[in-house]
Amino acid sequence: MTVTRHNWTKEEIQNIYNKPVMELLYEAATVHRLHHNPNTVQVSTLLSIKTGGCPEDCGYCPQAARYHTNIEGNDLMSVTQVKAQTLRAKASGSSRVCMGAAWRNVKDGPEFDQVLEMVRTINKLGMEVCCTLGMLTENQAKRLAEAGLYAYNHNLDSSEEYYKEVISTRGFEDRLKTIDNVRKTNVTVCSGGIIGMGETEEDRAGMLVALSTLNPQPESVPINALVAVEGTPLENQKPVSIWDMVRMVATTRIVMPETQVRLSAGRTQMSQEGQALCFFAGANSIFAGDKLLTTPNPDVNEDMELFKLLGLNTQRPFIKKRQPQTVEAKDSKYESLGEKPKWSRPEHTIQRNESAKEKAKS
Ligand code: SF4
Repeated sequence: MTVTRHNWTKEEIQNIYNKPVMELLYEAATVHRLHHNPNTVQVSTLLSIKTGGCPEDCGYCPQAARYHTNIEGNDLMSVTQVKAQTLRAKASGSSRVCMGAAWRNVKDGPEFDQVLEMVRTINKLGMEVCCTLGMLTENQAKRLAEAGLYAYNHNLDSSEEYYKEVISTRGFEDRLKTIDNVRKTNVTVCSGGIIGMGETEEDRAGMLVALSTLNPQPESVPINALVAVEGTPLENQKPVSIWDMVRMVATTRIVMPETQVRLSAGRTQMSQEGQALCFFAGANSIFAGDKLLTTPNPDVNEDMELFKLLGLNTQRPFIKKRQPQTVEAKDSKYESLGEKPKWSRPEHTIQRNESAKEKAKS
């Protein structure tokens, strides 16, 4: 086993990222084999339980209300709908359902209560449950944990320095605060980022420093390649090269040996050979389903064909950590406090995406 380090520097990570590809692949694949079964891949199904109309200004996101992107918004799904989708996901080989809501932060009230009921329902069906709902308070994290949440996703997106170039409606510190609140429970952390947003290699290394120096490191790290959506400020970004993706996956595997490295958005732009190289470099998790919230994703059957071709098996649920218990709403020891997460920059005025707003209006 290699030792998990929490003191990686940007320079060390950049040196790994820039190694000759054959050396980088060999090292990453070696670390991967020491910590994981190289023939097993965990599959998650992403469900957009509330789409569009988000007040945030993430420059890559078609769900931000301020951009004109032709996505169809929907209100919060019902528990019955989520149950039906979970049964489908289970039958197709997923071990986890990840529910995403286009919210800035969780607000206590009937909609959050409905999400808690969804968590209870999925956990009772024997699937790992993950949520990505925006910023969370400690009390909200505890209520989710009590309902049976297995993982909470909250991506750092990029380096601290580049973050404000992409998002102005919240700060990097706000992300870390939510992760910290999740860590006060037994819920695992899923946090990663996006490459191809115009960031430098130094920013990519900076993001991996921020993630790898968390203690404990996130149990799951999604690596997304930007899907440039028309109408967003990042619509003209060039697609990420497969070699950048392979380097990023391999470097993530080396600096976070125990984590599940997740191939996320951008897989439709990758060939089967490209995806196989990523699995070899240490990726051991994917999102399945024909859509990732709102952007396209390979069909589940295509994924299963690729797994067959490569001799990969899907991971069963609760292999890494025991299934949490579900406490029913009537037995909950936490009350709704009606609170909102505090923002780290309350005086800040939104400027970064003004030009995009103007463009969208015209
Ligand atoms: S990424 Fe999330 S927080 Fe940002 S605009 Fe999209 S839905 Fe809102």
